[in-house]
Amino acid sequence: MNRVYDGIMGLVVGDALGVPVEFCERDTFCVADMIGGGTHGLPAGTWSDDGSLALATLESLGRRRRIDLRDIMDNFVRWYARNEFTPYHSVFDIGNTTRKAIGLYMQGVGVESCGGRSIADNGNGSLMRILPLAFVPHTDEDVAAVSALTHAHPISTGACEEYVRIAELLLAGGGPEEAARLYDDEYDIRKKPRADVRSGGYVLDTLDAAVWCFATTSSYRECVLKAVNLGGDTDTTAAVAGGLAGIYYGSSGGRGIPQEWQAQIARGEWIAELCEADFFNGAAR
Ligand SMILES: [Mg+2]
Repeated sequence: MNRVYDGIMGLVVGDALGVPVEFCERDTFCVADMIGGGTHGLPAGTWSDDGSLALATLESLGRRRRIDLRDIMDNFVRWYARNEFTPYHSVFDIGNTTRKAIGLYMQGVGVESCGGRSIADNGNGSLMRILPLAFVPHTDEDVAAVSALTHAHPISTGACEEYVRIAELLLAGGGPEEAARLYDDEYDIRKKPRADVRSGGYVLDTLDAAVWCFATTSSYRECVLKAVNLGGDTDTTAAVAGGLAGIYYGSSGGRGIPQEWQAQIARGEWIAELCEADFFNGAAR
């Protein structure tokens, strides 16, 4: 059992499930399985920028054995400029704030100054890639600094800190009920009607939708399909929810990430290898 793999594969499978219907409006479609085609016309099992940037972060942590901000940003450049960390050697999706930050870094701007700081820079582009931090020793400041590589506004850094805290709670044995309570101890998110759950690109909406999907379902499959079928930013909502559900339900067993979905994921063996790095051992067993 490798809980790093569970979380990362949970994120990547959620991403791939959402890719074919990215930007589709809620209730104009229904995804029930891993499919290809759709919005980007790609084969089933193709993951997008969410998976790429999470894996780029994971690879850096495993190789450097510490949180090395410049090395993580160098990996983002390898992705953006050289198509590394992608399923089929192409980048087909990128957020504006992320593109701008990587562009500034490539022009020589210091790693602390690249991330967007305006209120408009609060898309979900750092939340979707922050999960690897849960598998290594870190402080809230570390999580904020990794978010700030692209998304430096306090709303984004705060959302990332909150998400990593929930992931840690699950790694420590907590479940959906505890996650819902940690997310909001005054209001039970499980009571929120689906019509009130927003699933666009705003970071706080994505975190809210992901926790709602996780807290109101009882298997990995149910959680990520519920996320995808919210419509809008389907791949990212399902990636963020899938990271939590993967950690909690695991990658084997009836409620875990379905084997057939894992088998469909592009570069699945390479992803599994990245999760085996010694540096993750504390969280891995
Ligand atoms: Mg994406």
